[in-house]
Amino acid sequence: MTRRLWIETVGCQMNVLDSELVVAALRRQGWELAAAPDAADAVFYNTCSVRQHAEDKIYSALGRIRGVKAKRPDVVVGVLGCMAQKDQDLVRRRAPWVDLVVGPGQLHQVPALVEEVIAGGGPRIEVSLDRRGNPRDAIARSFESYDPDRDPAMRPTPFQAFVRTQTGCDKFCAFCVVPHVRGPEQARPPATIVAEARKLVAEGCREITLIGQTVNSYRWADGGRTTRLADLLVLLDGIDGLDRIKFVTNYPRDMTDDLIAAVRDLPKVCHYLHVPAQHGSDAVLARMRRGYTIGEYLEMLGRVREAIPAAAVTSDFIVGYCGETDAEFQATLDLVKTAGFKNSFIFKYSPRPGTKAFDRLPDDVPEEAKKERNRLLLEAQEEASLAGNRRFVGTRQQVLVEGLSSRDEKREVDPGPDGLAQLAGRTMCDRIVVFDAPLRLVGRLVDVEILAAGAWSLAGVVADGLAAAVPLEALRLTGEESPEVHAIAPPPVRPTGV
Ligand code: SAH
Repeated sequence: MTRRLWIETVGCQMNVLDSELVVAALRRQGWELAAAPDAADAVFYNTCSVRQHAEDKIYSALGRIRGVKAKRPDVVVGVLGCMAQKDQDLVRRRAPWVDLVVGPGQLHQVPALVEEVIAGGGPRIEVSLDRRGNPRDAIARSFESYDPDRDPAMRPTPFQAFVRTQTGCDKFCAFCVVPHVRGPEQARPPATIVAEARKLVAEGCREITLIGQTVNSYRWADGGRTTRLADLLVLLDGIDGLDRIKFVTNYPRDMTDDLIAAVRDLPKVCHYLHVPAQHGSDAVLARMRRGYTIGEYLEMLGRVREAIPAAAVTSDFIVGYCGETDAEFQATLDLVKTAGFKNSFIFKYSPRPGTKAFDRLPDDVPEEAKKERNRLLLEAQEEASLAGNRRFVGTRQQVLVEGLSSRDEKREVDPGPDGLAQLAGRTMCDRIVVFDAPLRLVGRLVDVEILAAGAWSLAGVVADGLAAAVPLEALRLTGEESPEVHAIAPPPVRPTGV
């Protein structure tokens, strides 16, 4: 009998990839995806710990699943990923109906663990060693990279895929829980990454996004040779059939000249760099232990702009960090008004147990002030994004067509393969473009004439189909692509966002 799985994913691209891999492994064992949690034999939550809000969402989802578990005690309830690593047995103390608690370093065990629970061997908690008080080698071994064979059906779209370059993080920014829950930074060998990319391309993939917590810190040393991210990009750029390469997230200090030159010179590498500044004030950056000053960040930005004037640079910001004064916040606001970021992800500071900021700095900015600063910064970014996007009106851009726009997806439009729908795709510099075109263009590269700009998207017409151009008023532009949602959200492991 086929067993059915329901999985909900919150958080970053790393989690989206992890869910894809867990689902693929279970499908190989005969599992299928369920249409709803109450029709599932196993319900998994792939979790995020980066902010309290993401954890609260999971605990309330666990509250909701309790009723299902009461009616059908055989349903396997699993908490996977970062919150499992962070909270460990606390998960079961708060929700004793959970059968499986599995950290990011143990995901390869999920298929076997589910069988054990079904056979009556649960509950099970499998997590990695704590980064405090254990030898580094042993800790690293306990965080195993999980990159088994892929299942094309499980990807965000059949023609786009994430590929992991490294697991973990060693930056230890004072606010951030990631190094604690995802363990030490460990690179995957370049040959493995390239082989995975080739396989994905053979399966029809056209765009690959390399992912690592600080992807541009990538370093692999082998027999006296060191491979850095720039070298890896050269190898990937040579893969026939691959059209586009992106990589996220970058750490400002590791944005070296060789990497910038690789982005400039390699035809398949997108001119899109996510390099979070986090804050505009040196004093706050020091309290965050980010390891650079704003002057150094701007110097890096200058090198990027000089080499690739049209590159889209994006950032993350934290507002209301410990001790943030009005003047310090103003420095962030000024940075957003002047730096020309394509967009920014803005977060209110959320204290995370286990981090240096949690242990040593009071969370002393009132919630109301955090909210107001969040609003002001978003407003400034929206203005900057609109100004940036307006420069594209009247240009022709190559777009990789991803699917229905969020408007037509919401309306559940189904025009058939040849009927017009509002489609969405992205330019080489990661700008969202919407245009009316037949669905059969999905997965293809098309040239689009840009006719109008909103803050979060551009609108246009397919260049070689100008005769079929739709009137401009038919294209809706207002910020329906929320800047807080990361680009690619796959059915059926759609991340619910944090
Ligand atoms: N290593 C990646 C991902 C970190 S989490 C990176 O450097 O981008 C993604 C973003 O969440 C961070 O860039 C930061 O802006 C935000 N973030 C991390 N910890 C946070 C916290 N405790 N409170 C609020 N936002 C946080």
